[in-house]
Amino acid sequence: MSKSEMQNFEARDRAIETIAGSLGVRAERGKRFAELTSLRVGGSIDWVISPDSEEQAAATVFSLENAGIGWRALGSGSNVLADDDPHHYVVLSLGELKGEVKFTGTRVSVSAGYSLPRLCIDVARQGLSGIEGLGGIPGTVGGALWMNAGAYGQEIGTVTETVRVAQEGQVQEIPGGDVQWNYRHTSFKEGTLLLGATLCLQPDHPEKIRQRMEKAKARRLATQPHGGRSAGCFFKNPPSNAVGTGKMIDEMGMKGTRRGSAVVSPVHANFIVTEGEDARAEDALALAEEIRERVKREHGIDLEYEVELWRSSAPVTEPDESSGKEG
Ligand SMILES: Cc1cc2nc3c(=O)[nH]c(=O)nc-3n(C[C@H](O)[C@H](O)[C@H](O)COP(=O)(O)OP(=O)(O)OC[C@H]3O[C@@H](n4cnc5c(N)ncnc54)[C@H](O)[C@@H]3O)c2cc1C
Repeated sequence: MSKSEMQNFEARDRAIETIAGSLGVRAERGKRFAELTSLRVGGSIDWVISPDSEEQAAATVFSLENAGIGWRALGSGSNVLADDDPHHYVVLSLGELKGEVKFTGTRVSVSAGYSLPRLCIDVARQGLSGIEGLGGIPGTVGGALWMNAGAYGQEIGTVTETVRVAQEGQVQEIPGGDVQWNYRHTSFKEGTLLLGATLCLQPDHPEKIRQRMEKAKARRLATQPHGGRSAGCFFKNPPSNAVGTGKMIDEMGMKGTRRGSAVVSPVHANFIVTEGEDARAEDALALAEEIRERVKREHGIDLEYEVELWRSSAPVTEPDESSGKEG
């Protein structure tokens, strides 16, 4: 690192300490993506900042942006593959932003850091239906909104009435209808921090909802690896293909294929799992690219990543009107 780069980092670090001190938000150094993501791989992070209220989170990103400091939001890290190099930006970790779940009739308001599986149980107990299929998706509500998480015919976007986002240091509410909710992709722009949402659900008998949740859980347990370190499906299903990605990879005989610390799950071929204390993101990426090349060669299909690839070199400061998400 050059002397001027070092000085820049020192100035940035002082600015972060000042921001964290004035807002009373926890800011930590020395964390690694390997600790914060479900794949358990990925390099060091300069700073992890963990706001615990929607107002504090909005104020934090406003201050960081005013100081020209790049940041990225992270929920539970169950859909992120961060590379092994040092990541010189702030990770805004939303796991502490749990808030309180508030019910008003068939509506439920929840903060971004709240656990999605927990929310599914809460609403089922209240006799509210619409997200029981999502009960087995690990992660936070914020991550689910960002990705438009879905399973077994349900997607979170379908039931999202409003989303709270950070704007100019304040909590702003936008209609869910203004968001494009696509297959594991939304129209939220890079640099948008999601703070919470209000979902509008349907009344139903709690026992019937519970039974549907159990059915979804049983299906998941029968078809996916559990207990392993994965990020769920690595690739999206190709839109116009009758055969799903997992089946295609399975039929190419790739289940169990290993590259270093990364393995194609023997249970579900669209899951890459990592093994060992020193597992590396580069192994998972090499394996993923090998799969993509073979699928391209044998089926003529360009597989799109469902997992988000976080490069240490990626620019992360300003919202970019033209950018989509990688993968
Ligand atoms: C075993 C397993 C099974 C899975 N099954 C499914 C499934 O059936 N269906 C499905 O859709 N997914 C599935 N996934 C993927 C993953 O659980 C979902 O994408 C989940 O919604 C991600 O939530 P998260 O909090 O972990 O987000 P993260 O992985 O932390 O983040 C994902 C993306 O969301 C962004 N983000 C997170 N929070 C915020 C916020 N507050 N504001 C702005 N951006 C934010 C991040 O920047 C990142 O771009 C599975 C994963 C695993 C490990």
